[in-house]
Amino acid sequence: MYEQTVRKKLAQDAKEIFEAIVERVKVLDPANSRRWFDDLVIKNFGGGLLEINCPDMESAGFLQDNCIGSFTHAAQQITGHLVSIKFSADGKVVKSKLSEITAEPRLHPDYTFDNFVVGPCNRLAHASCIAVSNSLGTTYNPLFIYGSAGLGKTHLLHAICRETRNNLPKAKIQFLSCEEFVNRFISAIETGSLAEFKSLYRTVDLLIIDDVQFLREREQSQEEFFHTFNALYDNRRQIVLSADEAPGQIPSLPERLTSRFRCGLVTRIDAPTYETRVAIVQKKARLRGMKISDEVAECIAGMVKANIRELEGALTTLYAMTGTTGEEIGLDIAKKALGERETTGKNVSITDIIKVVTAYYDVRPADLQSKKRSQSITTPRQICMYLARKLTSHSLEEIGGHLGGRDHTTVMHACDKIGGLQQTDDKIQSQLVELTKRISR
Ligand code: ADP
Ligand code: MG
Repeated sequence: MYEQTVRKKLAQDAKEIFEAIVERVKVLDPANSRRWFDDLVIKNFGGGLLEINCPDMESAGFLQDNCIGSFTHAAQQITGHLVSIKFSADGKVVKSKLSEITAEPRLHPDYTFDNFVVGPCNRLAHASCIAVSNSLGTTYNPLFIYGSAGLGKTHLLHAICRETRNNLPKAKIQFLSCEEFVNRFISAIETGSLAEFKSLYRTVDLLIIDDVQFLREREQSQEEFFHTFNALYDNRRQIVLSADEAPGQIPSLPERLTSRFRCGLVTRIDAPTYETRVAIVQKKARLRGMKISDEVAECIAGMVKANIRELEGALTTLYAMTGTTGEEIGLDIAKKALGERETTGKNVSITDIIKVVTAYYDVRPADLQSKKRSQSITTPRQICMYLARKLTSHSLEEIGGHLGGRDHTTVMHACDKIGGLQQTDDKIQSQLVELTKRISR
């Protein structure tokens, strides 16, 4: 009887600690906090390991890819100990992304057709993505989607992938960024596994490649891509591509490649109109469990025009300022919160940050993206990561991608380290102030 009471009490304590950890994560990582975090449950807690049960594999993958750092951090803050974190669902623990090359693509739980707001700017792209998911290889092949950064291309590609998986659970799908394609190609050459590489990509039912502009000036990869493309196309397998420009507009891509890209359907996404932006803000707020009034949604949509990622950045700021009280956020609070955001540099891009930081420390951008580990390079690199995290709404992965394809744990570590130095090191602190000033100019 006594034992039972003790066990119950311990379980209750663990549950409370866990809830405190989740609340802390919401503060530490507002950009990635979602309403469904409240559905996470503690599965096991002991021996320095916290295992968290997630609603499904997709959300577990999202947490592993984006939030492992903030959970580790939060657990350490709340318990005072180093705790390692595992996310699981359906009785399986998710692995880190890098180890799974041939595995199923990991999809972002937010990026569904349901969560995509349709407006005049993207109606055609959206409709063609749905058509493709419903009839692989027959309607539009290849489907080529282009538009500026932050307008929803990657979102739509995830949605195609998910929808196809639902319609045809046995379909073989490969979904990767063009950069990953190139990196895997290079490492296949290095490790002598080119035959496996070829057979993997030339035998799928659906190949989705994001950001093909990355192929420019990579001649050998273009060649491989060309053959992969032809093999799939000749077998009537579906190909979906995205880029930041129309096929013919991407500099230094050979004509034989761009003419292949054009032979199916090419569809453009434009910047969203005001009404579409309002609807997107409302949708995104709901996903995060935030309640905002119509005026607030209109205010944000009025402030940010070009890039939807920035609309989300504004919501993140608002979320960070107001916390998760569950109360509706009014216009006065929003104006105050977003006014402050403006002074810390609205519209800042990672490229701006890299430009300013490399000029300041007199290093080359290529050095930051290289594997060099000397301190004269690592410090500016880590500072870039820290500032990108602070001044933009890019995910850890995206930031890592801009800095030589580093993974999210590296970025998290850099942010922690520079964040710590900012508290203790006067020199770093004044450098950060100066850099922030230059970047927002
Ligand atoms: P791109 O790949 O074109 O740079 P993303 O697909 O990464 O852009 O989109 C950036 C962000 O904007 C994502 O969070 C995405 O969900 C959101 N987004 C873009 N368009 C829409 C839309 N029409 N409805 C809802 N969210 C959108
Ligand atoms: Mg994208």
